[in-house]
Amino acid sequence: MSIDDADRVHLARAVVLAREALLDGDEPYGSVLVDATGAVRFEDRNRTKDGDQTRHPEFEIARWAANNLTSDERATAVVYTSGEHCPMCSAAHAWVGLGRIVYATSSEQTGAWRASWGGAPGPVAALPIQTVAPGLVVDGPELSLEDEVKELQRRAFERG
Ligand code: ZN
Repeated sequence: MSIDDADRVHLARAVVLAREALLDGDEPYGSVLVDATGAVRFEDRNRTKDGDQTRHPEFEIARWAANNLTSDERATAVVYTSGEHCPMCSAAHAWVGLGRIVYATSSEQTGAWRASWGGAPGPVAALPIQTVAPGLVVDGPELSLEDEVKELQRRAFERG
């Protein structure tokens, strides 16, 4: 598939959530769950600042979906996210049977930015979503949001 204007609205919301996370001391990531009718059903942002590094919004969405949506609803739902799912979240997304993923920036981009700023790699390999979950439909990156997401990542990196 390709990214259309309706997708861009939800991606922009994911980036707003990422900014909120950054301003609250968390890592700059946000995600939105949209059902087949186009309605936003759940959204969240990174909440790792208190020490639980698994509190990614995509993981929270998978848990929420498992508890609140039927399997058909999950299969036709779309998750929009400011940064591509990490392997943990890709696996959670696939295990609960969620549908398409659309991301603003890729893990490869984020890793390259951090490396260019002198950062060390994280503890988990930045595998593409489809390496972890080959059956998923995935779209991204969205070039119109790249500069904004990169700036959020830079601010988080410089904050340490
Ligand atoms: Zn994750």
